[in-house]
Amino acid sequence: MTYADIVKLAGHELAVMAIKGELSRAHLWTAFRGASRYIRALAAGDIASPSDAAHRLSVCLACPHATKGLEKHLAEGPANAVYCGQPSLERMEDDNPTPTCGCPVALSINGVFEPAAKVLVGSCRCPQGRW
Ligand code: SF4
Repeated sequence: MTYADIVKLAGHELAVMAIKGELSRAHLWTAFRGASRYIRALAAGDIASPSDAAHRLSVCLACPHATKGLEKHLAEGPANAVYCGQPSLERMEDDNPTPTCGCPVALSINGVFEPAAKVLVGSCRCPQGRW
């Protein structure tokens, strides 16, 4: 399945597929909150290189502003999305010294992290300039 295929599916369809084990490990994040705009960008070809995505992932996982979302029980095991700040909450005020965008950046599956969403999209940037 490609992102061009995934972009045609509704969020609830992706959630069911994730629970049943019908999404690849690399695509499981597409079933989590805040994924849709990033699926569209990837389907349009705005894709970070694997080395850039791996670097971004390591920076986000070490960032004090990253937070874990609620655990979901998927066919592959327990999974949590990791967000930049609070899930889906933009804190990008001009006077905020540590802005966060609320976007998903990683997915933990059985405790092993995969890059997700913002980290995978080539044109995306860290709101704090960390990558
Ligand atoms: S995008 Fe930047 S600010 Fe947000 S969690 Fe990653 S490193 Fe931290």
